Amino acid sequence: MSAEILDGRKLAGIIQNELQIRIFDLQKKYNQVPGLVTILVGNNPASVSYVTLKARTARNLCFLEIQENLEESTTTAELVSLIQRYNEDSRIHGILVQLPLPPHIDEQQVIRAIDPDKDVDGFHPVNLGRMVLGGEAVRFLPCTPAGIQQLLVRNGVQTEGASVLVVGRSNIVGKPLAVMFGQKGEGGNATVTLAHTRTKNLAELCRRAEILVVAAGVPGLVKPEWICPGATVIDVGVNRVGTNPETGKAILRGDVEFDAALSVAGRITPVPGGVGPMTITMLMQNTVRSAELYLGDE
Ligand code: NAP
Repeated sequence: MSAEILDGRKLAGIIQNELQIRIFDLQKKYNQVPGLVTILVGNNPASVSYVTLKARTARNLCFLEIQENLEESTTTAELVSLIQRYNEDSRIHGILVQLPLPPHIDEQQVIRAIDPDKDVDGFHPVNLGRMVLGGEAVRFLPCTPAGIQQLLVRNGVQTEGASVLVVGRSNIVGKPLAVMFGQKGEGGNATVTLAHTRTKNLAELCRRAEILVVAAGVPGLVKPEWICPGATVIDVGVNRVGTNPETGKAILRGDVEFDAALSVAGRITPVPGGVGPMTITMLMQNTVRSAELYLGDE
């Protein structure tokens, strides 16, 4: 039997159609559209491609969309000053700084400079704190964990009481996702284990997971024999393993041996086309929500 594919592109399209209705509503009531500024420093190819996709999606949804492409040599102070300008700009409801930043820039200082009410990536300590509190306190969930939760909920994958293993403890994926799975409510109530490079017996832990999320950045880390038969496998990894000589485009692989995993898993996300499109869509959703909150529609 072959696993059901959890199609992130398809679900992203459905959610974007729902957002479109909310955007038309804002236009009708307030004569305003959501405004998103994307800020890119330098020209790391992966970052360029992510920002381009985010900006294109925002444009397709008829956002006011501004791109700031800054030199690699930009200083922390210059970046903070640009962010402060957009904090004050009433047309802008979301500020996205594409990470990672060049090593000479103080990333945490930059994140803290973003007005938490415009922090649509959900990385500001205030929004991370709200996420940990859960329930009514939540403002903007970090986009990749939120996208994974939606992929599960909208495909009818039961998280309540499930044993979940999250591999990877980054601040943007693994750590917040582990917290979200443990919260009360839809997409939560799971029993969560968080694994990392110091974890012993990773293969054994994987085999016990009903829902396995892998965000390690190691191509093919998870072997088919590590997967519990019938488990739901969410592959967050995006690894550039080469370049297609015909198209010149990067060849992407996930953290799971996808082809072999198909015959073991119950459901699985592809790379590309799984978590990636959901991440971008959650960024759009957070920006629409920010505009609604600002304009008094929520
Ligand atoms: P990251 O900062 O790259 O850190 C990787 C995490 O995985 C660390 O916590 C590390 O443990 C753990 N890890 C690495 N190798 C491991 C191993 N062999 N066994 C167990 N744990 C291991 O994490 P990230 O930023 O979340 O990125 C992870 C992957 O997801 C990357 O491929 C990235 O491109 C992708 N990603 C995709 C999306 C999307 O929208 N599709 C979004 C974000 C990230 P330690 O903490 O012990 O070092």
